[in-house]
Amino acid sequence: MVLGRSGFKFQNWAQTYGSNPELFFQPTTAEEVKEILDLARQRSKRVKVVGGGHSPSDIVCTDDYMIKMDKMNKVLKVDKKVKQVTVEAGILLSDLNEELTKHGLALSNLGAVSEVAAAGVIGTGTHNTGIQHGILSTQVTSLTMMTASGDILECSESNNAELFQACRLHLGSLGVVLTVTFQCVSSFKLQEIQFASTLSEVLDNLDTHLHASEYFRFLWFPHTENVCVLYQDPTDKPPASSSSWFWDSAVGYYLLELLLWISTFLPNLVPLINRFFFWLLFATRIERVGLSYKIFNYDCRFKQHVQDWSIPIEKTKDALLELKAWLEMNPKVVAHYPVEVRFTRGDDILLSPCYKRDSCYMNIIMYRPYGKDVPLQEYWSEYEAIMKKVGGRPHWAKAHTCVRRDFEKMYPGFLKFCSIREKLDPTGMFLNSYLEKVFY
Ligand SMILES: Cc1cc2nc3c(=O)[nH]c(=O)nc-3n(C[C@H](O)[C@H](O)[C@H](O)COP(=O)(O)OP(=O)(O)OC[C@H]3O[C@@H](n4cnc5c(N)ncnc54)[C@H](O)[C@@H]3O)c2cc1C
Repeated sequence: MVLGRSGFKFQNWAQTYGSNPELFFQPTTAEEVKEILDLARQRSKRVKVVGGGHSPSDIVCTDDYMIKMDKMNKVLKVDKKVKQVTVEAGILLSDLNEELTKHGLALSNLGAVSEVAAAGVIGTGTHNTGIQHGILSTQVTSLTMMTASGDILECSESNNAELFQACRLHLGSLGVVLTVTFQCVSSFKLQEIQFASTLSEVLDNLDTHLHASEYFRFLWFPHTENVCVLYQDPTDKPPASSSSWFWDSAVGYYLLELLLWISTFLPNLVPLINRFFFWLLFATRIERVGLSYKIFNYDCRFKQHVQDWSIPIEKTKDALLELKAWLEMNPKVVAHYPVEVRFTRGDDILLSPCYKRDSCYMNIIMYRPYGKDVPLQEYWSEYEAIMKKVGGRPHWAKAHTCVRRDFEKMYPGFLKFCSIREKLDPTGMFLNSYLEKVFY
C-alpha cells in the first residue's frame, strides 16, 4: 500500500511557481501508481506528475495529489544492436547519460540541463539545436502510459500510432507515463568552438552557419550588435577544456548576479553590463572537447524568467531585427543577455512547436538576481506580439499568455489531441489550472 505524505511544498527550479499538494506520493511500481489513481478517483481528486520540476511555469502545480516519479528511475533494457534504451519514466537524464556511456551509447541531442526526467522532457517538448535534429520527443520510439482508468497503454509508430503522436508531447495531460524507449546513437565526443560575430553577419549568413556546424546556435546580446556563435560538432580529438573557476564562476556567475542586482536600482546599467560581459567572456575564440552530454549541457546560472517561442525558420531575421529595433526605440525597457537562438528540424508530433516546419527558437531571459524580480512586462508583451505576428508557437514549459483559441490557430492537430485527451481522461483527472487554460 503506497502512502501519501501531507505537508509537502512543491517549488519549481526557478522558484517562480509552487503549490501545496494535499498528498505527495513517490511510487516505486506501476501497481502503486494504480493505487494512487484509484484513490484519486474514489475521492474525486486531481493528479499531477512531476519529473525534475524544472518547468519555468505552473504546469506541474496542484493542490490535490502530486506524484513524483524519482523512485521509478531504472534502466530496464539496453539493446545495443538497434541502439535503443528503455527506461522507467522518472529517470533523470543525468543518470541516463552516464548509464548509456557505459554501454557505448548516447542520446543524439540534449537540452541545457540533464537534471530533468525522461517523461518530463518529452512532456513539454524540450529541444536543443541542430537543424538535422528534432525536439527531444523525436528520439522516442515507444512508451507506456497508465490512463485515468488504470489501464496501461503502449504506443509506438507501429502500435497505436495516432496516440503515439499525442503521447510524445503529452503535457502531463494524458496519463502517467511509466516507461520510455529512446533511439540512441553511438557514444560520441563534441568539439565546441565559440567565437564572436555581429547580429547582421549571422543573420545575413544564416544558411551558411546552419550548414557549417551540426549543432549551431548563437547568443545575441540585447542593446548591442554583439553575437557569440557556438558551433558543436562530433570529433575524435581528446577531451580538452580551458574552463576556470575564476572566469566561469567568480565572474560569469557571482559578479554578474551582483551587477544585475545593482541594475535593478539603475536599469540604465543593463546595456553596459551586456557589453561588458560580452567583452569579458564571449569576445575571444574558445575551443573545448568533451563527451557529448558534457558539451550539450551548460550552466544556466541563477534563477530566471524565460520565454522561448518557436517560429518558422525563414522568419528568424525579421523577428530578431524587429525585436532589436523595438528595444532601440524604447530605451527605458532593458533586456538581459543572452537572447539564445537555436534551430530545430520539423516533425509530426501533434503539439510540437516544430510541427511540420523547420523552426528557430528564440529564448529571451530576465534573471532574478538574489531572487529579486525585475520588471519585464513590456519586454515580454512586445516579444510575444512579434512571435505571434510571425506565426510563432510558445514553448510549453515556459512563460506565455496563450489560451485555447490561440492553440487552435497555431496547431493543425490541436483538436485531434483534445479528442484523444477527452477520451483517455474524461473526468479531467490530470488537469490543473495551467492545462485548463490550454484546453478550455
Ligand atoms: C535551467 C533550465 C534549463 C533548461 N533548458 C532547456 C533547454 O535547453 N531546452 C528546452 O527546450 N527546455 C529547457 N528547459 C525547460 C525544461 O527542459 C522543461 O521544463 C522540461 O519539461 C523539464 O523536465 P522535468 O523533468 O523537470 O519536467 P517537469 O517540469 O517536472 O514536468 C514537465 C511536464 O511533464 C509532466 N510529467 C513529468 N513526468 C511525467 C510522467 N511520468 N507522466 C506524465 N507526465 C509527466 C508534468 O506533469 C509536466 O506536465 C530548461 C529549464 C531549466 C530550469
